Amino acid sequence: MTRLFNDPDDFAEEMIEGFAAASSRWVRPVTGGVVRSTRGAEPTVAVVIGGGSGHYPAFGGLVGPGIAHGAAMGNLFASPSAHQVHAVATAAHEGRGVLLSFGNYAGDVLHFGQAQERMREAGIDCRTVLVTDDVWSAPKSEIEKRRGIAGDLVVFKIAGAAAEAGMDLDGVERVARRANDRTRSFGVAFSGCTLPGADEPLFEVPAGRMAVGLGIHGEPGIDEVDTPTAAGLAEMFVAKLLDELPDGVTAAGARVVPILNGLGSVKYEELFVVYRSVHRLLTDAGAVVVSPEVGEFCTSFDMAGASLTLLWLDDELEQLWLAPCDTPAYRRGAVAGRREVSADELAALDDAQEIGESDEASRDAAAMVARALRAMAGMLDASAEELGRIDRIAGDGDHGIGMQRGSRAAADAASAAVDAGAGARTTLHHAGDAWADKGGGTSGAIWGEMLVALGTALGDEGTVTPDAVGAGITAMKDAVMAFGKAKPGDKTMIDAIVPFAEDLSERLAAGDGLTDAWTHAAGVAAAAAEATAEMTARLGRARSHGDKSLGTPDPGAVSFALSTQTVLDVLKENN
Ligand code: ADP
Ligand code: MG
Repeated sequence: MTRLFNDPDDFAEEMIEGFAAASSRWVRPVTGGVVRSTRGAEPTVAVVIGGGSGHYPAFGGLVGPGIAHGAAMGNLFASPSAHQVHAVATAAHEGRGVLLSFGNYAGDVLHFGQAQERMREAGIDCRTVLVTDDVWSAPKSEIEKRRGIAGDLVVFKIAGAAAEAGMDLDGVERVARRANDRTRSFGVAFSGCTLPGADEPLFEVPAGRMAVGLGIHGEPGIDEVDTPTAAGLAEMFVAKLLDELPDGVTAAGARVVPILNGLGSVKYEELFVVYRSVHRLLTDAGAVVVSPEVGEFCTSFDMAGASLTLLWLDDELEQLWLAPCDTPAYRRGAVAGRREVSADELAALDDAQEIGESDEASRDAAAMVARALRAMAGMLDASAEELGRIDRIAGDGDHGIGMQRGSRAAADAASAAVDAGAGARTTLHHAGDAWADKGGGTSGAIWGEMLVALGTALGDEGTVTPDAVGAGITAMKDAVMAFGKAKPGDKTMIDAIVPFAEDLSERLAAGDGLTDAWTHAAGVAAAAAEATAEMTARLGRARSHGDKSLGTPDPGAVSFALSTQTVLDVLKENN
């Protein structure tokens, strides 16, 4: 049960504000998360971590000398957007490249991957090391598909220590990968977690039972057994992990770091009772225990559960594991020679969303874009409930709220950009980033991507001709397809976007004016959205509900079609 919150929708944002205020010795808030508040004498490779919120001390609690340089912090259990990751990485960068590291989850892979591309486009060397320690999430034969849990701490700590030691990006990447290769975890849960404002837990485990291998967001485990004794749980943990030794490791004589992690509402005292047996079992197997940890390192809100992580050391990893570090949630030894970063220095690094050069024709188009987004926000306010209802039938019911918040943020960002003299490209980029940051969910990321792609196509100079609009809408369609990997027939918004984009281009090519062409294409989009009712979902969250969605249209397709209608009304006003 989460008892203390204000508006549940603002929980993550308010949590981050409070965390930063309480931790100013280590961190400063920036767009998208936090970065270190101090600098060492020499620039180092920057280690940037992150993921959804709800896992404290992952991720913000691990920012400081010796571990991470910055953490991108998403909404509860939701990946930060590519824009947020990019903004944090840009603020954290010290001139020697960036290593992105995070747990292996689809949303995070998508958004961090895009942020990496944006860093590279800006000429910054940027690499990624995924954490894949959870042995139950995929078999040994598909080890790279495993998800990341408390092994995060190991990989982040080793990477951070390597950076602090002055290694270059190749070196930091190499040891981080090695740390991940030699780390294995196993988790269990006794009860699910309840997000702020929710009436029920996100998932449940029957009383007296223990879910084996259950993920930190309630992803299904592999088994359910009666809750064992503390000693019984230690035996399960150690037996499984000794059966999962990394290549080239034999337990007898090996040096190992055990990390016994509480997931949220298991007491430290209970963990110590479990650890008592873990320690003995590892020693009995002939291993030498080095610098063990018992506590909370990667939680899952108030979930009752625990995990054991084993890091099998070599000389280099041991030196890096034992190196000093100083972060809000994890400290070792003494870190000296730091100076505070001034507010001005940080402001210069923070993603200021600069307004580039533009001409008057493009500024006129930008004003039109802002009007269209404002009208969409109004329409989506009025349609939020209905879109939520459709999404509830086969999805999670958040489509209306997500579109409402995203479009409002986009309209606000667009107005601000126009007031600051931005052209079409810049206005759409700001609006798209704001939509992805605030809208959340798959649709937020996709709408963000669409606006950014449209902006890139339109540019910041020149009159936006009907043909340019057609080409822009085509670029927008291509971007969603490349980004979300959905195909026509998967029952997503693609099923409305593709016919809309194609029809618009055809009409324009046939010589129709923009308003006429758009009128026809919006009609095609509405019919296509309606026709998705006859499809079964093959992608996204609705997939597991399969046939439940038959007879109901796809919410994303419906909101897209409604949006084309709203933009049409704005086009007509303009004529
Ligand atoms: P979430 O699925 O994260 O809860 P929303 O409910 O806001 O996000 O949005 C759901 C909509 O997102 C779906 O109706 C569908 O149109 C769209 N969608 C989901 N996955 C994809 C994808 N891979 N490509 C394009 N659109 C997608
Ligand atoms: Mg949804």
